[in-house]
Amino acid sequence: MLIVMKSGATPGEIDGVVQAIERLGFRAHVMPGATRTAVGITGNPGTLDPVRFEHLAGVSEAIRVTKPYKLITLDLQPDQTVVRVGDATIGGPELAIIAGPCAVESREQTFAVAEAVRASGARFLRGGAFKPRSSPYDFAGLGEEGLRILAEARETFGLKIVTEALDEAGVDLVEKYADMIQVGARNMQNFSLLRRVGKSKLPVLLKRGIAATIDEWLLAAEYVMSEGNYQVVLCERGVRTFTQHARNMLDLAAIPVIRRISHLPIVVDASHAAGKSALVRPLARAGVAAGANGVMVEVHNNPDAALCDAAQALTPEEYLTMVNEMRGIHRLLSEGVSA
Ligand code: PEP
Ligand code: MN
Repeated sequence: MLIVMKSGATPGEIDGVVQAIERLGFRAHVMPGATRTAVGITGNPGTLDPVRFEHLAGVSEAIRVTKPYKLITLDLQPDQTVVRVGDATIGGPELAIIAGPCAVESREQTFAVAEAVRASGARFLRGGAFKPRSSPYDFAGLGEEGLRILAEARETFGLKIVTEALDEAGVDLVEKYADMIQVGARNMQNFSLLRRVGKSKLPVLLKRGIAATIDEWLLAAEYVMSEGNYQVVLCERGVRTFTQHARNMLDLAAIPVIRRISHLPIVVDASHAAGKSALVRPLARAGVAAGANGVMVEVHNNPDAALCDAAQALTPEEYLTMVNEMRGIHRLLSEGVSA
C-alpha cells in the first residue's frame, strides 16, 4: 500500500499516518518529495483495504501496490534519489567517480593511487580490504589493516571511502572505517547481509549479481530499503553471457530501464565488465552516454604487479584521460546537444 499525502500535508498529519500504520503492526516508510510526501507500507502479510487510510487527515489517496517492489519505485518517489556521502553526492548533477585499486595491497600502493584519484577531482576512493576471490588460494585482502589504510587515505586526500563487506561481521568493521558499504555481485542475494546493511547508517553500493535479472536486482535493493536504509546506489557491472571477448557483458540498457522504474541512482563499473584495461575507457564512456549517474573504475600505480584484477587495472595516466572523456560526455548531455 502506498499513501500519497496532499501537497500541503503538515508534519503532524504525516505523523498521524505513520502512527496509524504502526498501530496495525506494519512499517511506515516516509518519502518526502518535491511536491508531496508519500508513505510506503511494508510488513503487511496480505493486501490492505485503502479505505483504512483514505479518511486520515492530509491523505490524498491510498493506492494498492501490485508490483513486487514498493520502495524502489517511482510511484513512491518520483524525484531521483540523491545519495549523500558527507558533502559528496551520487545522483545529483555531478558525475560521481569512484576510483581506486581492486584491492588495498599496501599503504604505498593505496596512497599512490589515491593521489591520482584526488588529482582527477573524483570524490570517492574504492579499494577492497575483504576480497571475494574465486580461488581460496588467491590474495583475499588485508582485512582490518586494509580498512585502516583506507581511513588514513581518507584523512590525507579528503576522499570518501567505498569498500566491500563480505558478511555481517565485515559490515561492523566497514562501518568503523569507511563512508559507503559495497555489496558485491556474488552477494547480491545474500539476504541476511542485505538486511544487515539495511540497518546501517552508511549508504550502500549494490552491485548487480553475476546473472541477476533487473527484478532480482531491484528486489535486493528493496531488501535494504525495507530495513530503513534508503541510501542505495545501484551498480551495473556486467552480467555473464556467452561473451568471451570481455569478462562480462555490460548491460547498458539496464540504465534507461532502471531509470523508468526506480528513483535510485545507478553507476556503471566499467572495469569488472571489461576485464581488460583496453576495454575499460570505451565502456565507461558508453555508460555515461547511456545516462549513468557515475562510474566505478579500478586504477593501479603498477598494474603488472597488482595482486588482484591486474589485467583490467588502468594506469593513473589512462585513468586521468578517461575522466576527461567522461566529463566531456557528461557535460554535453547536461547542457544539451545542439543540432
Ligand atoms: C570489486 O568491485 O572489487 C568486485 C569484486 O566487483 P564485483 O562484485 O562486481 O565482482
Ligand atoms: Mn576487482
